[in-house]
Amino acid sequence: MRTLEELTRPNVWRLKPYSSARDEYNGAAASVFLDANENPYNMPHNRYPDPMQRELKKELSKIKKVRPEHIFLGNGSDEAIDLVFRAFCEPRIDNVVAIDPTYGMYQVCAEVNDVEYRKVLLDENFRFSADKLLAAADEHTKLIFLCSPNNPTGNDLLRSEIERIIREFDGLVILDEAYNDFSEAPSFLEELDKYPNLIVLQTFSKAWGCAAIRLGMAFASQEIISIFSKIKYPYNVNQLTQKQAIEMLHRYYEIERWVKTLKEERGNLEEEFAKLPCTVKMFPSDANFFLVRVTDAVKIYNYLVGEGIIVRNRNSVSLCGNCLRVTVGTRNENERLIEALRKYKV
Ligand SMILES: *Cc1c(COP(=O)(O)O)cnc(C)c1O
Repeated sequence: MRTLEELTRPNVWRLKPYSSARDEYNGAAASVFLDANENPYNMPHNRYPDPMQRELKKELSKIKKVRPEHIFLGNGSDEAIDLVFRAFCEPRIDNVVAIDPTYGMYQVCAEVNDVEYRKVLLDENFRFSADKLLAAADEHTKLIFLCSPNNPTGNDLLRSEIERIIREFDGLVILDEAYNDFSEAPSFLEELDKYPNLIVLQTFSKAWGCAAIRLGMAFASQEIISIFSKIKYPYNVNQLTQKQAIEMLHRYYEIERWVKTLKEERGNLEEEFAKLPCTVKMFPSDANFFLVRVTDAVKIYNYLVGEGIIVRNRNSVSLCGNCLRVTVGTRNENERLIEALRKYKV
């Protein structure tokens, strides 16, 4: 691996972060706070939130078994995705490599930050080759993006290939595990200490059922997390979100129940889809959604909209011609979808 200093943009490496009132004094003992120009009325929403989300990280640390110094929290994973570009990629000079197809935000953030985005096509079974990804990288490649289970294809990437990328690439590897809760594959969080160039992304938006509160997590070495903390907005995770997330962490057994139910429902849905006349090919899923090739994705998508049912049309995505991406819902929602598709005339 190149040193972190070599991988970081020089301006970011040199940056002295903005120091907020809550950064400079964060002891708990004081009872009169006249340091942040807040309004003393309208408790509890009058005070700035903890910029480092200490209590939330402490609770999260217990469940994820990762020390708080290795955790960054952001306004969705999307904030962490944007931060890796801003921290490491020099616009118009550096580039990043990613599998294709995958989650669209990596490319959007690359383009916003004026960083070249190099796509490497998966094979027809949506598997990737470490050799091909590494061959697409050069001395200006700072980041490689992997997503497992991948979106929109739904499959886990092969663990041995992921490990090869992490070991052989001399830049940083971003492994997006947004859907790992639904997979049988163990998370790479357990490997964090072994790999100083690994950044694992997770989110409260999927298994945790909290897309509305906007909370994403990045796990990495303490040095990488310090860089994120240095360039993030001081109060990037608001108080309501921190509070709600702590409440959810106290109810993690419920999340386990949801995940179990959703995996069973995924099995039922897949079984029913396989029998539908409009199904051409099912792709195996390790997530809370699956990809299915149908006779005519555009027609079927529009037909379902007419029935008040929205799925995702992935027809124009690489390798996903005539494919729909279907999120697993409640038993009732899934039955409505199947019933509508049974009525559809191929
Ligand atoms: C849904 C999703 C996320 C979550 O993004 P948030 O900003 O945390 O809501 C991240 N990565 C992938 C691949 C996703 O599909």
